Amino acid sequence: MSKNTNSRYSLVEVKKNKEGFGGFAIKSIKRGEAVITSKPVRELKTRTSHSAQVDWNKHILTDKPARYINHSCDPTVGVRSNKYGAYDFIALKDLPIGTEVTACYSTVEYEITGFSKCSCGSPKCLKKVTGWKDFPDLRKRFFIKKGFVAPYLLTKK
Ligand SMILES: [Zn+2]
Repeated sequence: MSKNTNSRYSLVEVKKNKEGFGGFAIKSIKRGEAVITSKPVRELKTRTSHSAQVDWNKHILTDKPARYINHSCDPTVGVRSNKYGAYDFIALKDLPIGTEVTACYSTVEYEITGFSKCSCGSPKCLKKVTGWKDFPDLRKRFFIKKGFVAPYLLTKK
């Protein structure tokens, strides 16, 4: 893997698993630690399966490894908007080496079009990958209460 300007890149490597690619912890990470700081690579006209939504009408492609972080209904990291106009991924629990770094896409995307079925395998799995608008119960989840959600989703559309 090539060196990256992202200083946090050293905590995660992108590997292929049965579902495709994913990001995995290569060091043990403490709860609350910034696992990845992502930066926008470019702005996109519409959402894609690899884009991240940062405002009501704004989608970006982020750098690696953030772009490869898979969805889970019971994520290991929460998202927090950062000074680059993208997201930091913060460990929601201690992550031993080898843990897959997963985020809840519904905390970033208002709608999700690229996926339908969820195969995260968590006991809390909703069986579908859905956006913020389709998942009102999300507001009760602990990571939302801790503020790990895209700020624009908390504003009026
Ligand atoms: Zn799931």
